[in-house]
Amino acid sequence: MKIAVDPTACLHTGICVSLAPHHFTLDHTGTMHLSTDHIPPHQHAQVTAAVHACPTAALSLQQP
Ligand code: SF4
Repeated sequence: MKIAVDPTACLHTGICVSLAPHHFTLDHTGTMHLSTDHIPPHQHAQVTAAVHACPTAALSLQQP
């Protein structure tokens, strides 16, 4: 499972960062970045919750 980001849709709310801080970060300008592409199985639920919580649908999950 991989995370896909549409940066044009991200409004820098930080919701994904608060729900899955190991995978999403905000830099000093408020721009969201993926910390890692690798999602270990025990973190799938946390990342999935963060993706679904994004208010602008900027995040999606891709199966390999
Ligand atoms: S939850 Fe969505 S809009 Fe908010 S920072 Fe994350 S990707 Fe951007």
